[in-house]
Amino acid sequence: MILGVDVGGTNIDIVAFEKDFSHVATYPTRDYVAKLDKLLNELVERYQAKAVGIGFAGWIRRGKIIKAPNIKLNDFKLKLDVPYVLDNDANCFALYASHVLGFKNLIGITIGTGIGSGIVVDGKVYRGEGLAGEIGHWFVGGNEICTCGGRGHLECYFGGWSFKKRSLNAIELVESGRIYELEDFEKLCICVANAVTLLDPEAVVFGGRIGSSLNERTLKERIYRYLMSEFRPEIKTLNDPLAVAKGACLMVMK
Ligand SMILES: [Zn+2]
Repeated sequence: MILGVDVGGTNIDIVAFEKDFSHVATYPTRDYVAKLDKLLNELVERYQAKAVGIGFAGWIRRGKIIKAPNIKLNDFKLKLDVPYVLDNDANCFALYASHVLGFKNLIGITIGTGIGSGIVVDGKVYRGEGLAGEIGHWFVGGNEICTCGGRGHLECYFGGWSFKKRSLNAIELVESGRIYELEDFEKLCICVANAVTLLDPEAVVFGGRIGSSLNERTLKERIYRYLMSEFRPEIKTLNDPLAVAKGACLMVMK
């Protein structure tokens, strides 16, 4: 038995994997992140888990969290009674997308509170020196302040915190289709097209609360606008709120 954990900006989702995945629990991040090890150690005992995989919404270099723009960390420390793997949440998403959709080379993009992305090359997560794939913090112009401390990053224009700051309702934007009329959607598509040109993946897979609810055909049409005709990756959405937690389990098994 392995436990997979998704520590996101809003919720902590936990799944268990034995022969298949099952949802264990969901907790609000705000109330539980400071005592995550206590919570996980209790679950490890209850489920007799041998290891834990944790997908974390932050920048992780060699197993250490170096920045988490969307989570209040205070004195976050992790002492678990079993071995664990700590990785970026978008990396976990990309690994799960590769596993479930069968693409060996892909870019996974999660759009929720912020924008994360993970790269899978030949079936393995590509990390570079640890932070590879931070598409949400690409400079796209302007002077808006980002949660990371930078300015003019993609996240400043597209994604949960940016919409909220401008009193835009993300779900309403998606449901009404108005999201595709925003100049900010264009910014997203240009960044994705640039990433495709850099990596030439088989597919780009969108996840997260906002990303997974976008229309595949519209995404494809708009991303292709900015690509040379030689680049035609599949553009997919993966609507599974537990994808990061499941990917975190896979991180342990790899
Ligand atoms: Zn930023």
